[in-house]
Amino acid sequence: MAKFRTLDTVGEDLGDITGKVALVRVDLNLPMNDGSVTDDTRVRASAPTILELADKGAKVLLLAHFGRPKGARNSEQSLSMVVGCVQDVLGREVMFVPEIAGDVVKQSVGILRAGDIAILENTRFWPGEEKNDAELAQAIAANADFYVNDAFSAAHRAHVTTEGLARVLPAYAGRSMQAELVALEKALGNPERPVAAVVGGAKVSSKLDVLQHLVTQVDHLIIGGGMANTFLAARGVNVGKSLCEHDLAATAEAILEAADTSGCTVHLPYEVVVSKEFAANPASLRTCNIHEVAADEMILDLGPSSAEALGDVLKNCRTLVWNGPLGAFETEPFDRATVALARTAAALTREGSLVSVAGGGDTVAALNHAGVAADFSYISTAGGAFLEWMEGKELPGVAILEQQLQQG
Ligand code: ADP
Ligand code: MG
Repeated sequence: MAKFRTLDTVGEDLGDITGKVALVRVDLNLPMNDGSVTDDTRVRASAPTILELADKGAKVLLLAHFGRPKGARNSEQSLSMVVGCVQDVLGREVMFVPEIAGDVVKQSVGILRAGDIAILENTRFWPGEEKNDAELAQAIAANADFYVNDAFSAAHRAHVTTEGLARVLPAYAGRSMQAELVALEKALGNPERPVAAVVGGAKVSSKLDVLQHLVTQVDHLIIGGGMANTFLAARGVNVGKSLCEHDLAATAEAILEAADTSGCTVHLPYEVVVSKEFAANPASLRTCNIHEVAADEMILDLGPSSAEALGDVLKNCRTLVWNGPLGAFETEPFDRATVALARTAAALTREGSLVSVAGGGDTVAALNHAGVAADFSYISTAGGAFLEWMEGKELPGVAILEQQLQQG
């Protein structure tokens, strides 16, 4: 049961949408180099929503932010830069409107025909956007008939175009938002058990809230990466020169205790790959037990036996959420444990025994590197919003869509 309205019911609610104006919040915060877009993944993610609305005859106005212009217009961060890329991905002509509200938008809407698409200017040029200013919401809404949010990646912000507009217009989740919410619900909202979570990456401090929330939600917590060192050190293991937050020993202990209370089994590495220098295929590379790390060595990956044991944990689980690589995967051979576990998760997913959801900038890069991203049930590219969801926080952009459904 959907907890929010989707494009499936637009027709039921609003009747024929031919000629009606849709404000569609998308993610156009695209990576750029020398004025051209280097990765159009985010545009491709929202293309189905945009094209579906256009094909149903709506006049589609795209709303998005770019960078952090801090409430003032500047030519370097104008969304006019991405028009070419959006046209290429959609295979349609796209108009650019250098405003987000007022007469210029009104006139543009008058020029657009049913099924036409336009990009409005960078919403963060207006200070009201990030303040979730009600007047700005009214002014933007004045030129439109309904609102569609297809930017899960911005849903952890309560801004006008992520939250405020849903208060003043009929509000819908776009297809990409819908897919993300359905996948996340399957992974942590109402998952098939047992559930395993893999949390890796560099530091415990960046993922404290994630760890604290997950121990209350999952049956198995697999801790890898640099952050595992902090847990090992807290347990009295000598981690040598490894990346380690010694000042977080008490916090790590508290997390382990909370896991114990909730019946969550924590899996820490027992075999690791170490080296005296951090370089590709270093001469001092060796695999050892965690109790044999020398004072001048650093732990840079889990050992093969540890990785295999974790694969066995996943074989007994029905659901997996993964954030953070198990080792310094950018440098060979410290990618091995991450690649091995990712391949096991992918195979289990293909067999239909595991629902696998992963997210996080470096995690997505690591899964791509392992060549398994397409085999996971769902990969979130949402970054900050994905982490806040893993922390168990309510995302304002999602909460308002659910609230609007309840109000009918
Ligand atoms: P994500 O972006 O997916 O949330 P993080 O940014 O938290 O992931 O962590 C990824 C980083 O952690 C990678 O750059 C990786 O090299 C680093 N890392 C993982 N294990 C170790 C380790 N043992 N020592 C040092 N760095 C590590
Ligand atoms: Mg990262």
